[in-house]
Amino acid sequence: MKIITEKKPIRIAVVRCDIVSEVCPGTGCFMAFNKRKMYFKDYDENTEMIAFFTCGGCSGRRVYRLIKSIKKIDVDVVHLSSCMQRRDYQICPNIDSIRKAITDAGIKIIEGTHH
Ligand code: SF4
Repeated sequence: MKIITEKKPIRIAVVRCDIVSEVCPGTGCFMAFNKRKMYFKDYDENTEMIAFFTCGGCSGRRVYRLIKSIKKIDVDVVHLSSCMQRRDYQICPNIDSIRKAITDAGIKIIEGTHH
């Protein structure tokens, strides 16, 4: 009997700022992911982006609910988008509670996407 062992693809999601999403279609995040650059550079070609959603607006109320939802379909890593990280551009006043919603679900966080 032949045994085939396939490596399970890493499954990732991106949470981004709802305010910034009014002016950004998310192309920077997707370009970086598709080319495996910046904060996505360590992923192999089998890595799957399974979700890409905004926080729902201050106070990031949507994150807890959607993290619960994607946890059911298996997710390994959640990126917090670069627009949430740049202090010269946007200071998210709720980033600690957003982080907590993700880490409490037992999911690894990577801080950043494309810049
Ligand atoms: S909670 Fe943070 S990430 Fe969400 S809209 Fe407000 S500033 Fe942006």
